[in-house]
Amino acid sequence: MANSENKGVSFRQSVDLMVDRAMAVLELDPGIAKAIKGCKAVLEVRFPVEIKGKLEVFSGWRAVHSIHRLPVKGGIRYAEAVDQDEVEALAALMSYKCAIVDVPFGGSKGGLHIDPRKYDRDELQRITRRFTRELATRGFLSPATNVPAPDMGTGQREMAWILDTYKHLYPNDINYIGCVTGKPVNQGGVRGRVEATGRGVQYAIKEFFRHDDETAAAGLDSKLEGKRVIIQGLGNVGYHAAKFLQEEDKVLITGIIERDGALVSDSGLNVEDVKEYVTENHGVKGFPGVEFVEVGSMVLEKECDILIPAALEAVIHGGNAGAINAKLLVEAANGPTTFEADTILRERGITVLPDAYVNAGGVVVSYFEWVRNLSHMRFGRMEKRMDENRGLHIVNALKETGHDVPSWVAKELTRGPDELDLVRSGLDDSMRSAFQQIKTTKDKNDKVDDFRTASFVVAIEKIATAYLDVGVY
Ligand code: GLU
Repeated sequence: MANSENKGVSFRQSVDLMVDRAMAVLELDPGIAKAIKGCKAVLEVRFPVEIKGKLEVFSGWRAVHSIHRLPVKGGIRYAEAVDQDEVEALAALMSYKCAIVDVPFGGSKGGLHIDPRKYDRDELQRITRRFTRELATRGFLSPATNVPAPDMGTGQREMAWILDTYKHLYPNDINYIGCVTGKPVNQGGVRGRVEATGRGVQYAIKEFFRHDDETAAAGLDSKLEGKRVIIQGLGNVGYHAAKFLQEEDKVLITGIIERDGALVSDSGLNVEDVKEYVTENHGVKGFPGVEFVEVGSMVLEKECDILIPAALEAVIHGGNAGAINAKLLVEAANGPTTFEADTILRERGITVLPDAYVNAGGVVVSYFEWVRNLSHMRFGRMEKRMDENRGLHIVNALKETGHDVPSWVAKELTRGPDELDLVRSGLDDSMRSAFQQIKTTKDKNDKVDDFRTASFVVAIEKIATAYLDVGVY
């Protein structure tokens, strides 16, 4: 709900208020604080496209929040709720997100005011190609300066159209393929990007559970297996996060909230089955054998261990924050908690892992994709066989000297990493080190007692240093 105002505070103001808390902790110079907080440039375009014989005019935005690193990075959203305030708030979150996970990009975001479900493939292609031309010709799209990615309502298909349009506009740009990330693999995409944000959510939760002091402070034991999880939204992020947590970490998915209502089951829902049902029926209503709750948002208040909002903004607000009954809130969506709700949750002592950290997996893997594009080579191509041969020598040497090498060890040692292995390893490492930086900041600083403020402190320290190192002029 981009346009939803909470006590008169817009999404962008809500983000700024949270950032202010971190800036106060850092006692940041007001000039630098102001320089960091505002968007540096916002492009608004209106363009006509002929749809079914009639001209329709579309409005779109691309906001650039910070340029301390280039290119600036962030998705393009297709939704009816898109407006300039939302795009600016999301661009700001991108800056902080990139800084938290040490991705060397500034923050940006784009949005098109459209309900993509109302248009067929051909119409969406024409709209996307036109929007791309608007962005590129005005300096808001290029591998060197501004690199979009998927977001709500867009995916690989739209990214391939953006790439193709840019390529035809600038055929002499040798790095044209890096003008956008989240592309299909056969169009220069990197393996593991589709599920990256959901995978990152899983890695963030796993890392949290490696710290006994944090699980205890949240009122949980340190075993992730068997934890009761409620997830809001089975889109790309929610689906992958829930799937990996269920299949690999054996959590119990006790609630799934979708657009048309929610499913609840204390003995656990099968994510794959529900996803399949949602794809076929455009909702969860009628899913057999489990309880259906018409007012899905009520399920946000159901008792559980981990609540994962993975859909819209401002779903946890002043009106329901007092009733949230989870021990750990993991923000897989961007901006699911308003400033007012955040204050209430803090007072109630509910542990919150914030969006700017939790959902950074997407941009981390986008960074890998961009690097792959600039190097014009897939990861692992040079070293895979070399690693395999080295492993084989070790296994042979051990066997020749009379050592027994279990077959699974031999198999692991003689398998060189492929692109997906490397992407996962890089993502896991990024999520783990970011958590450790955030936790150290929280533990070291008397004035910081929550992960959100700590995350913003980490981000702002890095961004402020980048500004101060070169001087602001
Ligand atoms: N749209 C995603 C986000 O909000 C990904 C951005 C990117 O990969 O550039 O983080």
